[in-house]
Amino acid sequence: MRSMDAADPSPSTDHLTLRRANLGLVLRRLRDHGPRSRATLAAELGMTRTAVSALVAELAEPGLVRTGGLERGAVGRPGTNVELDGRAVAGLGAEVNVNHVSTMALDLTGEVVSEHKLSLDARAFSAEEVLDRLVELVRSTVADLGQRDIVPVGLTVGVAGLVDRERDVLTHGPNLGWHDVPVGELLRARLGEEVAITVENEGNLAALAEATPGDPARQDVLVLFGEVGVGGGIVTEGRPLRGRQGYAGEFGHMIVEPSGRRCGCGRVGCWETVVGLRALLDLAADPDDPVRDPAMAIDDRLAELNRRASLGDTRTIDALAQVGGWLGVGAAMLANVLNPAAIVLSGYFAAVGEHMRPALETRLRAGVLAPDVGGTRVELSTLGFTAAVRGGAGLSLETVFADPTRVARRPPAEGAVR
Ligand SMILES: [Zn+2]
Repeated sequence: MRSMDAADPSPSTDHLTLRRANLGLVLRRLRDHGPRSRATLAAELGMTRTAVSALVAELAEPGLVRTGGLERGAVGRPGTNVELDGRAVAGLGAEVNVNHVSTMALDLTGEVVSEHKLSLDARAFSAEEVLDRLVELVRSTVADLGQRDIVPVGLTVGVAGLVDRERDVLTHGPNLGWHDVPVGELLRARLGEEVAITVENEGNLAALAEATPGDPARQDVLVLFGEVGVGGGIVTEGRPLRGRQGYAGEFGHMIVEPSGRRCGCGRVGCWETVVGLRALLDLAADPDDPVRDPAMAIDDRLAELNRRASLGDTRTIDALAQVGGWLGVGAAMLANVLNPAAIVLSGYFAAVGEHMRPALETRLRAGVLAPDVGGTRVELSTLGFTAAVRGGAGLSLETVFADPTRVARRPPAEGAVR
């Protein structure tokens, strides 16, 4: 039922390549610009209506698109809309970080179809034990999809640390205390060939989650992702900037205070030592305060800090202003280099961002050479701590948008498809 090649037994390589490219073009057009008629697609993509109709039929067969509703604002007789169909496939994202492991599945339309999260103090367990917990969440997610007959198209795992993407190895994760952990291999040993696994830095994934396809204001984005560690990513002209070996975006280790505190990475005065979650919690509360209890969910601890700041608690307000000021110092360096359209505060920075923003913006304005901060806006992510898993799920779906025929050729996973 999901094999599209059956109707086309011996196509030439060129024909196949062209067909894949055109199917991808139509699918991405629908993602980036929303539902539209075959006639509109034909005009926008420079194809004939016959060609577009054939492509749409081919995408509809495995359930990637469907028709429905009439096109609004059309000239002449309105055509029937074609739109993405979320019922066939989903991309999986997963995250391993210091405070939790989590998973998310997004369908082709970007809707969340499954979400699981477990709070834990990763440093209290071995890497294998943490990955065992993650595997349990992945299995629950796949089971959720199976119940709705949705096929997982890939699993992208975000980890807190440097990732060798060729080998799927976390080479250096100071906050997790992991070194040279073969995350991809360990997960494949546990999950088998059920789903294709990719490992990425969580900051890159969080950045990708903020860059909205088709939105010009969200194509040049700098994402600062605050947790125990501080990372993030750079999206330029809609694409992630990874650097030569994929290590770009390690903002947390810019040295801002050479005579300051020692960082988890071994260096002294990294940005992370003054804006990481530990720095904030150390300033804001005594060691026996519940907001410093790693067993308590991080969202609840941050909500408590927000509550205290809103009630006028001086210690909390001062801590947030101090960290916000340091955040502005580093943000100004990055804005001078990159001139992004937006600096998006993600992770814990977003959760307490309203209280940090005044000090941050003061330092940012003072530190950026360009007039009016070069037009850079400071925004708070609305994705919370799900940015990395969401970005991971989105990246898994990219394989379908790049080559929709992969869905048709994929053998059905046991138990997932009738
Ligand atoms: Zn460091």
